[in-house]
Amino acid sequence: MFHYEKQNDKYKNRNYSFFKKKVCYFCVNKLNEIDYKDVGLLSKFTTERYKIIPGRTSGTCAKHQRILAKAIKKARLMALLPFSSSKRELGR
Ligand SMILES: [Zn+2]
Repeated sequence: MFHYEKQNDKYKNRNYSFFKKKVCYFCVNKLNEIDYKDVGLLSKFTTERYKIIPGRTSGTCAKHQRILAKAIKKARLMALLPFSSSKRELGR
């Protein structure tokens, strides 16, 4: 699980792989639309339980967080991403 500890933040950089940069991924890559079919990308913004990671954690700006949430929800409806995963399913 991802635990955010403000005080130790600068000493723990080596454990941050994807979220070390606190800049919006979509702004950096100039993506103004997010393809809901791009499951690989969407899953980077969900936890292992397939919950959407909040923008303040991933660094995604409010604008893109909204687009992202929409894309993730659409992907779920299209059965590209699970809605949420229970303990039972994880232990499979
Ligand atoms: Zn952005």
